[in-house]
Amino acid sequence: MKIKADIVIVGSGAGGAALAKELTKSGREVLVIERGNFVKDKDLGTQRAGLGFYDRCGLRTSKEGVIVYRTLMVGGTTVVSCGNAIVALEEELKDSGIDLSQEFEESKRELGVEPLSDNLIGKGSTLIMDIGNRLNLEMRPMTKFINAKKCVSCGLCILGCRTGAKWSSVSFIEEMRRHGGKLLTGLDVKTVAIHKRQAIGLVARKGREEFRIYANKIILSAGGFGSAVILKRSGIDNAGNKFFVDLFNVTYGVLKNKDINLYKEPSMAVVSTKFAEEKGFIIAPFIDVPLVLRWLMPRHKHLRGHRHRNLLGIMTKIKDDNKGKVTEKERFFKIPSKEDYEKLNAGAEIARQIFMEAGIKRQDIFVTKPRGAHPGGTAAIGEVVDNNLRTQIENLYVCDASVLPESPGAPPILTIVALAKWLAKKLIMEVS
Ligand SMILES: Cc1cc2nc3c(=O)[nH]c(=O)nc-3n(C[C@H](O)[C@H](O)[C@H](O)COP(=O)(O)OP(=O)(O)OC[C@H]3O[C@@H](n4cnc5c(N)ncnc54)[C@H](O)[C@@H]3O)c2cc1C
Repeated sequence: MKIKADIVIVGSGAGGAALAKELTKSGREVLVIERGNFVKDKDLGTQRAGLGFYDRCGLRTSKEGVIVYRTLMVGGTTVVSCGNAIVALEEELKDSGIDLSQEFEESKRELGVEPLSDNLIGKGSTLIMDIGNRLNLEMRPMTKFINAKKCVSCGLCILGCRTGAKWSSVSFIEEMRRHGGKLLTGLDVKTVAIHKRQAIGLVARKGREEFRIYANKIILSAGGFGSAVILKRSGIDNAGNKFFVDLFNVTYGVLKNKDINLYKEPSMAVVSTKFAEEKGFIIAPFIDVPLVLRWLMPRHKHLRGHRHRNLLGIMTKIKDDNKGKVTEKERFFKIPSKEDYEKLNAGAEIARQIFMEAGIKRQDIFVTKPRGAHPGGTAAIGEVVDNNLRTQIENLYVCDASVLPESPGAPPILTIVALAKWLAKKLIMEVS
């Protein structure tokens, strides 16, 4: 099948949806191609359906055994975010000639970013914050794009939000459609069609059917993993390098207190960013969903017996090195470096101190292996795209986590949305 459009955007996550919405609002003709589908509201917030929209049911693993999460669905990985909003990499992007100060403010307003409301910070998070602050960790409520009036504190942010309290880029896609933009779902983009060093279209597949989509401008927003695969398959060999994932581990402690059930509180309700600049990690309360937890629990019988309601968890998320690689066969390599382990261990040690202050015994504390949830860096600014987010191929751009010059070590959605708004302004200026 052949399709024509003015601007075609691949992916409807943080980067793609924000860009699509801004461009259609300015009157541009936009078509978004999305590999996943819409997920029905009834399937959000449930483990069975939730793990289904994660790539490989949440078991997409590097050759070295590091799990990296992403979802393939309308709204991309924003649908399963914890709603955290932090201004990340502002200075690094400025150094590359991209000043997002205005776009950060616009994005914060649009997404409704505010510190999590006090009434949503439950007893588990409060306990961790209070002890953390006694230990001088400067813990405070996380800034989030969560509407306190709609949040029911189900603790299932990472399976999608049923009540619509949490922003996701699905709302941008809906806005784009109201302004006349089009969306095709279930199409897996394979390559960019290039003629005389100029991008002229895309080749995509839906089952056995092949689609050829012709466009004047093509923007890849298939995520830090997905865009690199398409670029490499299209012959852009330097894509796929410098892969970071913002590695994290979770330290768990067994606390039997009937009044506390951290699992039923918004994930990462509070945060300490005290060590972000100097040591490259942040810490925040977090609990994996039970199905995932089952894989992560250590073999010690006395711990295995405990249900998630008896657990306190603290995530350490680090700014990891960018020595990973993504291949055109949709595989990736990621070995945590010695420095990565030092950061992960430093965070876990602080978590351990908090738990011991809470009365948890050392033998009732365990730490999970490193995993990643923020893939990016694979089409970095200055390497694969220039500081207008253009590739070496005319009319071919990239706008998502893959252009970030280094690991943010912090939630990247706000930065990606701001970057998309910034690119939209540039593209709109080009034609007017
Ligand atoms: C569990 C979890 C919690 C998180 N919580 C937070 C948080 O609280 N705050 C925060 O800032 N960040 C959070 N993140 C990270 C954040 O969601 C991502 O970094 C962000 O969504 C990346 O945006 P993106 O546009 O690069 O990619 P995505 O949002 O992943 O969008 C990429 C889109 O491209 C589509 N796609 C991929 N390949 C193809 C193809 N070949 N053809 C067509 N379409 C394709 C995908 O289906 C997807 O819709 C979290 C991540 C996870 C996994």
